[in-house]
Formats: sequence, C-alpha cells, structure tokens
Amino acid sequence: MFKEDTICAIATGMGNAGIGIIRISGSNAVDIAEKVFFPIRDNIKVAEMKSYTAAYGTICDGENIVDEGILLLMRAPHTYTCEDVCELQCHGGMVVMRKVMEAVVKAGARTAEPGEFTKRAFLNGRIDLSQAESVMDLIHAKNEFAVKSSLMQLRGDLKNVVENLRETILYNVAFIESALDDPEHYSLEGYPQKLRAIVDKLVTNVDNLLITFDNGKVLSEGIKTVIVGKPNAGKSSLLNMFLGEDRAIVTDIAGTTRDVLEEVVNINGIMLNIVDTAGIRETSDVVEKIGVDKALDYVDNADLILYVVDSSVPIDDNDMQIIARISGKNVVIILNKSDLETKVDKMLINSYISGDIVEISATTGEGRNELYQLLNHMFFEGKLSYNDQLYITNTRHKNELMATRNSLTKVLESIDMGMEEDFFSIDLMDAYEHLGLIIGETARDDLADKIFKEFCMGK
Ligand code: GDP
Repeated sequence: MFKEDTICAIATGMGNAGIGIIRISGSNAVDIAEKVFFPIRDNIKVAEMKSYTAAYGTICDGENIVDEGILLLMRAPHTYTCEDVCELQCHGGMVVMRKVMEAVVKAGARTAEPGEFTKRAFLNGRIDLSQAESVMDLIHAKNEFAVKSSLMQLRGDLKNVVENLRETILYNVAFIESALDDPEHYSLEGYPQKLRAIVDKLVTNVDNLLITFDNGKVLSEGIKTVIVGKPNAGKSSLLNMFLGEDRAIVTDIAGTTRDVLEEVVNINGIMLNIVDTAGIRETSDVVEKIGVDKALDYVDNADLILYVVDSSVPIDDNDMQIIARISGKNVVIILNKSDLETKVDKMLINSYISGDIVEISATTGEGRNELYQLLNHMFFEGKLSYNDQLYITNTRHKNELMATRNSLTKVLESIDMGMEEDFFSIDLMDAYEHLGLIIGETARDDLADKIFKEFCMGK
C-alpha cells in the first residue's frame, strides 16, 4: 500500500455553519486524534476505539480547550482513503475550525492539498482514475442528470467498460506474441481476418461511447439555447418569463437589447443556458451590429433555438432572414403575444421552417406550461433522452477514446494492407495504453497530479 504522512483538511464549507468537519487521514491519524481529542467519559480511550465508532469530548490545543465535539474513527482499510481516518466534528465557525486545524497540525498532521484524500483512495487502489474524477463531477454537478451520470461513473461503470475493451485487446496481443514466439503451437493462419472483425467491434464500442459525449455534455452543462426573433418580437419578455423576474430590460424601442445576455434556467430539471440576442436584422448602428454578429455566432453553435415570432404582425422580410439562418437546426417556434389578435398563420410558418409551434403570451404567461411540457418532452423522449446509458462527460476521457479509436483504425489499415502481425500488436498496445489512461492504469504521476489539483479542499 502507498504510505505517506498524515494529512488533514476542513472537509465542510468555508462559511459559518452548525457543524464543521476536520478530516485526518494517514497512518498517524489515530495518534493525532488522541493528542487533540479527549473523550468526556473516562473509560473511552481513543487508541482503543473500534472502527466506525464515535465519541463525544473536548478538542484541545495543548492546554487550551478550543471546542467540544465528536470524534468519528474509521480504521484502514475500509475507509475513503484506505488509511486510518478520523473526523472531528466541531462547531462550524471559521475561527473554531481554524483553531481545531491548528491543533491537528501541531499534533503532527500536514494540511492536505486539494483532492489529496481522493488521490490517496486512487493510489491505494480503492478507486480508478475515472471514479476519482467522477467524485469531483458529482460535487460540481449542476443538475440531477449530472448527478446521475457522475454516480454511474463513481460506481465504476466506465471503468468496467474500459476494462472489458482492454481485456479483449490484451488477449489478442498476447495471442500474436505467443504465435510469433511459438509458431508450432499457435497458428496465425486466417487470424488477421478474425482480428479484423474483433477490432471492428472494438471501434464500434468506442464510437458508441464517443457519441454520448455531446449529449452528456449538454446534460451536465446545460443545453445551449438561443432566443432569436426580430426586434420587439418579445425575446426579452420570454427570457423574463423563464427567469420569473425583470432581469433583461424590456422596452418597445426596436433594437434595445444591444448586447448578449446569458442566463441559466432550470425547467423541471432540464438546464437551459439561454442567450437572449439582440434583434437579428440589418443595422447601421455600430454597437447594435456587434450584438447582431454575436447573435449569429451563438445561433451557429446552439443545441436549441427558440424562435420568437410576434404573432400580432404578419411575417415580414426580417423574419424570413432569420428563418434562412436557423432552418435545419433544432428549432421551437414560439408565437408570442397570443393575447393580441393573431396575424400569423401556423401552416404558413411551418411551410417556411419545420419545428414545433407553441402559442404563448410572454406578458400574461398564457401557454407557458405548454412550452415547458414541449421542452421536457423533447429532451426526455427526443434525441437527448436520458436513460441508464453511460455518458462520457469528461473531455479528457473523450480525448483518450479518440486516440484509442485512432490506434484501432491503424490496426484495421495494417490488416487490410497485409502487414506483418507484429505491426498489429504495436497499435493494439497503443490503444490499450490510451484506454489505460482513462482509468489511471497507465497514468503517469503528472497526469494524476493535474487531475487532483482541480479538486476542492477536504475531498
Ligand atoms: P425584444 O426586442 O424581442 O426583446 O422584445 P421585448 O421583450 O423587449 O418586447 C417588445 C415589446 O413587446 C414590449 O413592449 C413588450 O411589453 C411587448 N410584449 C412582449 N411580449 C408580449 C406579449 O406576449 N403580449 C403583448 N401584448 N405584448 C408583449
């Protein structure tokens, strides 16, 4: 087992709270706890406490009592880090927690680096790198999809898939090597074609994981949504309706939303990162033009476009320009101002651009529920459906999978070119190594260091 000094950190938030937890991990954790924690009941000795038991007592820095609280003691190897772990639950004030930390450091612990507890769990072999990364993702999860996806990875789903792929690769490399060493017992006759089928399947498996990346990103970071429509169509009003307050400035002078506003809204668990753009139209106003250019950029990169149409006036050239720009994308057409007499024909709009149409009034809120239902429906049952599938959400994992795919493709090329078998094993081993980097099997120290630095303190 990996052995190092004993570390400590404040594991709870840095604000004032009812309870604060100081976590200590390492081979001296129990000794250190014994130096700072004194059970109220005389018959309890910290050094003799059983694993997963707690005691109530005072926390002292030398002669001085700094707080009173609870000691939770967990013995190696069945702990978060696989080392002895003691948690001191004290009062959650910043000053108190700092004083307890000081006492613990004086007693012999070192302040932990961010992520160092999880790093130890990884180095001690309790979790792989993908699981360690999912701990961080879980802490930073912005919505329930991200939570679910990180939990699946924490459970080891990605690890299992990667390990299976690696096993297949290793088996074949071993076979090639054996056959080259011992041609009498292992024949490579007809093997390249067999290998071709196997590698083809591996590529498909890797592709299936890669496909989930975009959706997974969308789900964990929010759906990139852009509101477009001609000036005065009601884009700012729509955003305000989503936000439930007057955050965007609503005016009736055309072209007043000059810059681009970005807001995050949560619609029944679906996170939309909404950009309200300046009205897209031909303009000579320089400031307004910058906004319009930005709007066009956002449109090109959006996952979802909410096209707001002022239904109280007929479709005009300005609408046609917008339609030309957004057609072919994932568009929801919002016929706004349903409280006024409508001058827009739904069939006509759909003849210009396909997409679901919802009638709403951004000012009265009429049609809002229908819009929310439609968005929910699109993302739960549509192409971004979230089910028990494993999602790749981490860019690092995606890059390693792409590199894996690349090496596997080279194997296929070598087979097709009739190359010698030892060429196959070189590229197969490359693929094996890249997959290994996902789970940390072939992780270099610098990679692990880089990943754990991004963790928060105390984890
Ligand atoms: P934007 O230029 O597209 O952002 O449009 P705004 O949201 O600033 O709205 C332009 C004008 O239309 C404002 O006077 C709003 O009060 C008005 N407006 C927006 N939505 C509605 C609606 O559903 N019904 C009515 N009657 N007026 C609306």
